Amino acid sequence: AVEEPAAYLDHLNDAQRAAVLFGTESGSTNHALPLLVIAGAGSGKTTTLAHRVAHLVASGADPGRILLLTFSRRAADEMGRRVTRIVSRLSKDQPRLAGATLEWSGTFHGVGARLLREFSGRIGLEPGFTIHDREDSGDLMNLVRHELGLSAKTKRFPMKGTCLAIYSAAVNTRASLGEVLQTSFPWCSEWEADLKRLFLGYVEAKQAQQVLDYDDLLLYWAQMLTDPDLAAEIGGRFSHVLVDEYQDTNSLQAAILLAMKPDGRGVTVVGDDAQAIYAFRGATVRNILDFPGHFDPPAHQVTLDRNYRSTQPILGAANAVIALASERFTKDLWSARDGTQKPRLVAVRDDADQSACIVESVLARREEGIRLKSQAVLFRASHHSARLEVELTRRNIPFVKFGGLKFLEAAHVKDVLAVLRWAINPRDRVSGFRALQLHAGIGPKTAGRVLDNIAAAPAGCVLLGEQPVPEAVRGAWSRFSSLLEAVASATWPANLEPVCQWYVDEMPRMYDDAAIRAGDIEQLARIAATYPSLERFLTELTLDPPSATSDESGIPLLDEDYLILSTIHSAKGQEWSAVTLLNVVDGCLPSDLATGSSSEIEEERRLLYVAMTRAKDQLDLIVPQRFHVSQQPGHGDRHVYASRTRFIPNRILERFEQTSWPPPAVAPRPTAESRRIAFDLAEKMRSMWK
Ligand code: ATP
Ligand code: MG
Repeated sequence: AVEEPAAYLDHLNDAQRAAVLFGTESGSTNHALPLLVIAGAGSGKTTTLAHRVAHLVASGADPGRILLLTFSRRAADEMGRRVTRIVSRLSKDQPRLAGATLEWSGTFHGVGARLLREFSGRIGLEPGFTIHDREDSGDLMNLVRHELGLSAKTKRFPMKGTCLAIYSAAVNTRASLGEVLQTSFPWCSEWEADLKRLFLGYVEAKQAQQVLDYDDLLLYWAQMLTDPDLAAEIGGRFSHVLVDEYQDTNSLQAAILLAMKPDGRGVTVVGDDAQAIYAFRGATVRNILDFPGHFDPPAHQVTLDRNYRSTQPILGAANAVIALASERFTKDLWSARDGTQKPRLVAVRDDADQSACIVESVLARREEGIRLKSQAVLFRASHHSARLEVELTRRNIPFVKFGGLKFLEAAHVKDVLAVLRWAINPRDRVSGFRALQLHAGIGPKTAGRVLDNIAAAPAGCVLLGEQPVPEAVRGAWSRFSSLLEAVASATWPANLEPVCQWYVDEMPRMYDDAAIRAGDIEQLARIAATYPSLERFLTELTLDPPSATSDESGIPLLDEDYLILSTIHSAKGQEWSAVTLLNVVDGCLPSDLATGSSSEIEEERRLLYVAMTRAKDQLDLIVPQRFHVSQQPGHGDRHVYASRTRFIPNRILERFEQTSWPPPAVAPRPTAESRRIAFDLAEKMRSMWK
């Protein structure tokens, strides 16, 4: 056990150190009461959490029994690296610590998936169950909708995406369908009875096919914990549970946390209510505000008030924006980082100028020595960056995009994943439907027949080779089916190769640009081989896909320099030296799609706050004066005039420097010299007619 606060805690401030050490002062790490760290952006919450984990390990906690929950896989990896770095410095004195790594860190969904695989036998799930991403879930919802005759066309019934959103909202908020419809989807209320029928059909289809959607990962996990033995076993496995960005958890996640740790011992949660931006997906800021009161005695609370990230002018502007919010718990922060540069509000004519302006300033900053990687361009909606992406590509500026279209969403990558998932779970209809039709000579009818046939077979007795496929394709089919059976039986990752090869051979029949796509399949195989098993690979790829498709150059290597493009939602928790925010106009931020209720508008305001507080040294907010609305169906191709976001009203404008781009052409003032030229010219003109 560590007696004195160790040197690695020296650079923390008193409040941070108190949070790190809380409950471990006695030398034992086992009985720490619940702890809440609630504080504004950039105040070192994540830093404190990483140090607390490291400190627990240094004080004797078993790293294999620490559960660290973050909002993205990337954040978990980053945190894991930080912990390892701190701990490995200590291992000189304590050899026990050499090579200590966290085994349990990830998102709620990722950790849930892992626990469910491990405990599947105990709760009656087949170990090969499939996890559906949102698109697959939408496809299944659609399939069920058609079976029930609830077609969108004939009855104006809500579209599949809306159905899924309603379903998901009900599951995640644990509210009744009626409540969800009333509060969030009032225009669908007339369909309540039909929706109920649809959701029942959807749930039954998932059960029959051994399919779990994203929401199920939490739902089954929570359900598993209602069994007292399982709850004790799973809760007891972890001596400590630590959660970052707790303001963006939903009530199901809070219930899971409390079911694992009913007395809150060993639990630490960290967050900022001013940064709650996931209410649209069922998150509730009540989780963090109500956390202390769940326990008796209440959880210990630490607040931090110094921001270490941003210069004072940037922080001051961000504070001014969030000060206009209707409700807020955390207080304003201060920063000791001086700076003279206020955030800039840059007026540009349109999207084209916006892109050109950004490219110019990104390159200028690189000249000044700010690497591309230390610069980020953020936006409210993924499609906002389309024009900029074209411009960056044209100018040969490498970039990586987070949020938006993912590697996994490319059709050909989805094809291969469908084949793999169907191979290990033949009851999965969505994957099966897709996989079967990749085979030459098999269309939707045959695919449906095969899947019905499989659904009727007793569990464990599915022989793919003996399915009712047309005579003409029998030969090719038997090769394909033995390939699939090999996936389930052969060893990993060797079993991957034949499937990928088969697909690459078939591709020219399906795609004109098969050669380019083949590169992605190779990429997929390379990524896959780094996972311990096919199941782990499919799970993690579904939950946290890599973010870029390979082009000729492939995903930039880690040591290459590239600009970051990201949605604001995906930029959470991160920081860059220079941040540029696109389309800071009403309609984009707040988004037109989120101005229905005051709580939606408040969430948009917090989004702007999150975006602004990502910047360390320079912050540009771009305000196009007009923009294209061609993407919106029915509007044709036209411009609308835009105005600066309502979240920066005139009364806080003094916090910003207002400029425009391109800078207005300043006409040179006439000089004595130029006047003489004009005089001479005029004289000459006159003399022509004299
Ligand atoms: P967010 O709300 O955006 O998630 P956060 O509260 O988690 O922010 P961190 O990301 O942990 O804040 O820290 C912000 C920056 O401040 C980081 O660059 C971090 O290294 C730095 N920092 C945090 N604490 C200290 C400290 N005591 N001394 C110096 N730098 C610090
Ligand atoms: Mg953080």
